[in-house]
Amino acid sequence: MTEYVDYLIMHGHLFTMRGEGVGCVADGAVAIAGDCIVGVGPTDDLLERFTVGETIDASDQAVLPGLIDAHMHARWAVARGVAQDVTHWMQRALAPYARHMTPAAAMAGTRLNTLEAIKAGTTTFVEYAKPAPGWAAFFAQVGVRARLTPTINALPPGGMAGWRMGDLYPLDSSVAERDIEAAQALARDWHGAADGRITVMFGPQAPDMLSREHLLKIKRLADRDGLMIHMHVAQGDREIEQMLQRYGQRTPAYLEEIGYLDRQLLAVHLTEATDEEAALVARRGASMALCSGSIGVIDGIVPPARAFRDAGGRVALGSDQTSGNNCANLFNEMKLTALFNKIKYRDPTVMPAWEVLRMATIEGAWAIGLGEQIGSLEVGKQADLILVDLTAPNLSPVLNTPIRNVVPNLVYAASGHEVQTSMVAGRILMRDREVLVADERAIRAETQIEAEALARRVAADPVHGGMALLTAMEAGQL
Ligand SMILES: [Zn+2]
Repeated sequence: MTEYVDYLIMHGHLFTMRGEGVGCVADGAVAIAGDCIVGVGPTDDLLERFTVGETIDASDQAVLPGLIDAHMHARWAVARGVAQDVTHWMQRALAPYARHMTPAAAMAGTRLNTLEAIKAGTTTFVEYAKPAPGWAAFFAQVGVRARLTPTINALPPGGMAGWRMGDLYPLDSSVAERDIEAAQALARDWHGAADGRITVMFGPQAPDMLSREHLLKIKRLADRDGLMIHMHVAQGDREIEQMLQRYGQRTPAYLEEIGYLDRQLLAVHLTEATDEEAALVARRGASMALCSGSIGVIDGIVPPARAFRDAGGRVALGSDQTSGNNCANLFNEMKLTALFNKIKYRDPTVMPAWEVLRMATIEGAWAIGLGEQIGSLEVGKQADLILVDLTAPNLSPVLNTPIRNVVPNLVYAASGHEVQTSMVAGRILMRDREVLVADERAIRAETQIEAEALARRVAADPVHGGMALLTAMEAGQL
């Protein structure tokens, strides 16, 4: 008697991410029962071992663990492409849209961003937002894996619009208390929901946006409930300036002092951290979410991920937001991460293709606290995987022996749109480019309507008459 499995994906170019490299298995197969991987190996071996419900022929396809987007603000897809090429991106470009965002616009953007990311191979979404109604339920229903992080800050209504560099922003304690309560309620309702596919992290927005007392309270709650902390750290010169004014310390030293640097922390960006500060955060066991595309576009900076990894830290990749990065696509992040770091160090050996592929899969999984469940194709792990068409002209020819070229081509030549099929927890989300779990046409139509209405509200607000984007339009540049 052979064991029954629901799916056997066979004859693929497997990159399992087992061990220290990419774990290549030529003519490989993956057997899936329920939500779990129960066999990985040569196709002939697995065909002998299992009775199969459905076979999926992966000839001429790469089979990879599903990609992990370690930092996203999905709602901003409703404002894709409206905040590039400006200084003080958050205050001057994003804040007007934040002021006029509605729950309906936020959810339209969230749906579009999720659709886009699924089509580019993302299976795990580490999402960060002030929750709109239906936010968590959407991720549960659409079938992706999500680490939901409800934002906690103490910024008064209106946010940062009108704030000027050099001023301390006001912190409103009641806002923080309300956000902390909302985060606890969300964790109670959703942490471990959908058979464990949906989990929750605490999201203090940044150390300059909450008092020390509230940061310590969040840390206590996270310790008590066993939740990770997902926080922007040293994310801009503005933050460092606020920290120096308020506490006389730069962010990493301050976080060290208040006990925030440990394995529980996913530190996002580290844009303004020095190499020494990044190494300190890494040595304390925290992980880093690196958003190369976003920080490149909005700051013109390459964050210190190399120093972080050299100090033993784990780095995951994130797309951040499409208002400033323009796409939620891990293939884009892998390529930009490899290129930017080579350019930064004037050294083509820095961050080779196989390393950035590991950051988008197994290293990312450990960084976000899910290394036991996902990130590699191994028996006992969740069946989260993608199939990538290697017959696409830009990925051809395919060489396997004596020289192998697939991984460099996935990183430097793929657009992400070669992803054909994706599966999360044993359920097929996309098959032959057709997303089965969402109505693509309806999502695009809804987001178009919401985006037009949002743009009208922003443009009609006299506070924002001097927006860089409007000035550029008048000059005929956009
Ligand atoms: Zn962010």
